[in-house]
Amino acid sequence: MSIDLKSLIRTIPDYPKPGIRFRDISTLLTDAAGFTEAIERMVSGAPHDIDLVAGIEARGFLFAGGIAPKLSAGVLMLRKAGKLPGPAMGTDYALEYGADRLEMHEGAVPRGARVLLVDDLIATGGTAIAATKLIEQAGGVCAGASFLIDLPDLGGAARLRDSGLRVQSLIDFE
Ligand code: IMP
Repeated sequence: MSIDLKSLIRTIPDYPKPGIRFRDISTLLTDAAGFTEAIERMVSGAPHDIDLVAGIEARGFLFAGGIAPKLSAGVLMLRKAGKLPGPAMGTDYALEYGADRLEMHEGAVPRGARVLLVDDLIATGGTAIAATKLIEQAGGVCAGASFLIDLPDLGGAARLRDSGLRVQSLIDFE
């Protein structure tokens, strides 16, 4: 019997601002069987010829760390601005209100390396699209993207698929 992963996700109304329903995955993370099954299902739906699994700060790191050893791949941290100790390269992207920036260490991606992008959730796709641009700017090949949750009404996963990327998600929320 497979676990109902959706039932392990808590919805917090009006966070971080009024009108937003925040999908809180911390309740799935603390459920050992649920988190294990989420990782297994993300691994089985992903391409397997992968050199690096790129996790987006912060919750994406948890999934990248779980998935990468099962694909015999390394982990690439895509961090928010100013957090990396060594020389970094980055890309700026627009949010609904404001802007943000993702960075990685220079030289972290060998030329032609096949990279699987992972995060907890895709909404508009702005963050994931910026991540794929950064991976490609670094000389990697974005071979697929995997998310625990998709908010299909916001169209991010469809935008990524339209760009030719193989995209999987385990759970949809309206
Ligand atoms: P996007 O750039 O609009 O696709 O937003 C996706 C990013 O925002 C991801 O890095 C998510 O971690 C984060 N995010 C947006 N909404 C939620 C939510 O309801 N729960 C958890 N993370 C969220």
